[in-house]
Amino acid sequence: MSRILLVEDDVALRTSVRQILERSGHEVRVAADGSAGVRELQSGTFELVLLDIGLPFVDGWRILETLEGKRLPSVIVISARGEERDKVRALDMGADDYLAKPFGADELLARIRVVLRRAQPAPGPSRIVRSGGVTIDLAGQSVVRDGAEVKLSPTEYGLLSALAQHAGQVMDHRTLLRTVWGPTYGDERNYLRTFIQRLRSKLENDPRNPDLIVTVGARGYRFGPPATTDQAT
Ligand code: CA
Repeated sequence: MSRILLVEDDVALRTSVRQILERSGHEVRVAADGSAGVRELQSGTFELVLLDIGLPFVDGWRILETLEGKRLPSVIVISARGEERDKVRALDMGADDYLAKPFGADELLARIRVVLRRAQPAPGPSRIVRSGGVTIDLAGQSVVRDGAEVKLSPTEYGLLSALAQHAGQVMDHRTLLRTVWGPTYGDERNYLRTFIQRLRSKLENDPRNPDLIVTVGARGYRFGPPATTDQAT
């Protein structure tokens, strides 16, 4: 069970999504416009925000801006617009996923499960991965760069952790998308590009010339220098 904030001005959709979420055991707060959404975010803590973009008073883009830089709840943007550039913009602004209306209950719940699972610590024994000045504690879910803690959103962390668990090996695009975003993903290279860029801007000394998260041709990405077995390829 998670605390979820639903920001949606369409009363029918708000009611039905609320019912879907409550039936699956979540605790739900609703906001019918953007200003109410901002107030809820300031006064409560949520694991997840379901955020409509077209809202009265304060639109969803503005709400995403106010979240930037904070310890974030996960955010799934729900929007009727469904255009590719809106999707990219939402991810660029820190959303974890994007769901175009109309969507079914099963699809909504599946997306929520994946996003919430991403925010959970990796099971298993503690494991520390280091490269350059960056230290990742996979069990404690913390990232330190040159002695200072780096704040990452759950999705940023999920992607970094997937790469770091295979340090020195190339992870192909499809495997990364399935690991981080879930089994229905595989072709959304723009998700990867956006999140890799954000990780680089937070972790690399020279984000345009990365040596921590390396692009490996058209195949995928690799964390750190190649492992010896990988060098021949
Ligand atoms: Ca709306």
